[in-house]
Amino acid sequence: MYLFIHRKDLRVKDMKAFSFLHELGKPGLHLVIVDPQLLSTERGKDHSGRYFLDAVARLTRDYAKAGRELHLVYGNPEDVVEAVCSVHNVSEIVFHEDYTPYAVRRDQAIRERAGTASVPVYAIQDHTLAEAEAFQSFTEKKEPYKVFTPFYRKMKTYLELFYRPGSPYSVRDLQTAELDAGLIERFSVPSEIAAILSGSAKTAEPEPAEVLAAYLDDGLLQYDDLRDDYGNPGTSGISGLLNTGALSIRTVYEELQGREGAEAWLRQLIWREFYMYQAQMDPDFFRYEQVYDLSGLSDRHFEAWRQGRTGIPVIDAAMRQLNETGVMPNRLRMITAMFLTKNLLCPFPLGEAYFRTKLADYDNVLNRGGWLWSSSIGFDAAPYFRIMNPVTQSERYDPQGRYIRTWLPELEGVPAAKIHQPRPDAIVDLKLSRLEAIERYKVLLGGR
Ligand code: FAD
Repeated sequence: MYLFIHRKDLRVKDMKAFSFLHELGKPGLHLVIVDPQLLSTERGKDHSGRYFLDAVARLTRDYAKAGRELHLVYGNPEDVVEAVCSVHNVSEIVFHEDYTPYAVRRDQAIRERAGTASVPVYAIQDHTLAEAEAFQSFTEKKEPYKVFTPFYRKMKTYLELFYRPGSPYSVRDLQTAELDAGLIERFSVPSEIAAILSGSAKTAEPEPAEVLAAYLDDGLLQYDDLRDDYGNPGTSGISGLLNTGALSIRTVYEELQGREGAEAWLRQLIWREFYMYQAQMDPDFFRYEQVYDLSGLSDRHFEAWRQGRTGIPVIDAAMRQLNETGVMPNRLRMITAMFLTKNLLCPFPLGEAYFRTKLADYDNVLNRGGWLWSSSIGFDAAPYFRIMNPVTQSERYDPQGRYIRTWLPELEGVPAAKIHQPRPDAIVDLKLSRLEAIERYKVLLGGR
C-alpha cells in the first residue's frame, strides 16, 4: 500500500497527487500529521491555528462523506513515517511539495527514514499555478525575476501557453486503508487539540467552492474599485482557503477565465505566485535577518503596537481587528507593518512572528513576503524612503472614520475631521520618526 500525507492541500479533489495515487491502483493510508513544531497548543488556540484545525475538521467530514478513511495523527512527521513503515507494508510515500526551510529539512528527514526502509518518496508540485523551475526555463533567463511587473507579464503568457488542469480524480476514486490501532493510539492528538477539532464550526459554513462562486458572481467586477476600501471590504476573503489548500489555486484560475473584471484580481493571485517563486529562487528569502544587521533596531514600542495602544487611530483599530478576529485587510497590513518597522524602528521578524499566530490566513511564505516588502527588503520591495503615513492613508481610505469607530468605540463621538489624527498620548511623532527611519534604513540597506 502507499502512504499519502496531506499538507497545504486540505481538500478531496483537484489534487495533483491523486492522479499519481490512482495510477498506483492499490489501497493507501491517508494521513494528516499535526506537527507539534508547527502547531503548538498555544498557536492551536489562536486564530491561525484554529483556522488550520477548522480546515482539518472539514477535510475529515469530506472524507467521511465520500466513504473514505482519513487518519489524523500527532507527532514528528519523520517518526510517524518510520513507525507506519515498520508496521504496514508501505511501498511508496507521496505528498505535495513545500518550500520553506522547515519543510525542506522535514522532508529530507522523511526521505532518510524512508530510505532506511527502502521506500521511495514522491514529492509532487501542487501549491502554485506554475512550477518555479519550469517557468524559469521557459523565460530562458539565467537570473530570476526581481521585479513584479515583468514577472507578471511573463507569467500570464506562460499560463496561457502551458497551464495544465489538476487531477480529474477525487478521493472517491481512490481506495483508502485503515491505520493500525496501535499507531492510532501511539500518535493520538492531545485532548486540547481534539476538543478544538470536535467543536469546529467550519463544517457548517459554506463550501470553499461556494465562497469562490459567490465572490466571482457578486464581487469581482468591483474588485479594482473596492479592494482598498477596508471599511467595506471588496476583496474575496479566500486567502485562508488557498493557504490551507481547502481551495485549489487551479480551481480559482479556471473559474476566473473569461470573467469581466478578472485582470486586476489575477494580478493579485500572481503576487502570490511571485512570493512562492521568490521563496524558491531567492536564497536569502528566509534569511534576510542574517543578511542585514537588524540589531540596531529595538522592541521598544512593540507591546503598544501589538495591543493596539499606539495612539495612532488607524493602527490601533487595525490591530484590534486582528486581535479579535484574525482578519486584517491588505492595505492595513502594509500600513501597520510599515509603522512597526519604520516609525517604531522594530525589526521585521517581530511583527512577522506576531502575525504568525494571529492571522487566520497565515502563510509562512506570503507573510514573510509582506513583511519583507513593507520593510524594504528583498526583491521588488517598497523603496526604503516610502513610508505610508497612517493619517493620510486613513483619511483617504476611510474618510468618515467608520472603520476606526467600529474597532475603537472609545472614539465614537470624535468628528470625521479629527478622528484620523494622532491622540495626545501617541507614542511617536509621525514626522520625526519618519525622518529618522529614512536615515536608519539608508544605512541598514547600504543605500539600496
Ligand atoms: P484578494 O484581494 O481577494 O486577493 C486574492 C488572492 O490573491 C488572495 O487570497 C491571496 O492569495 C493573493 N494576494 C492578494 N494580495 C496579495 C499580496 N499582497 N501578496 C501576496 N498574495 C496576495 N496573505 C496571506 O495569504 N497570508 C499571510 O500570512 C499574509 N501576510 C501578509 C503580511 C503582510 C505584512 C502583508 C503586507 C500582506 C500579507 N498577505 C498575506 C497578503 C495579503 O494581505 C492577503 O493575501 C490578502 O489580504 C488576503 O485577502 P483576500 O483573500 O480577500 O485577497
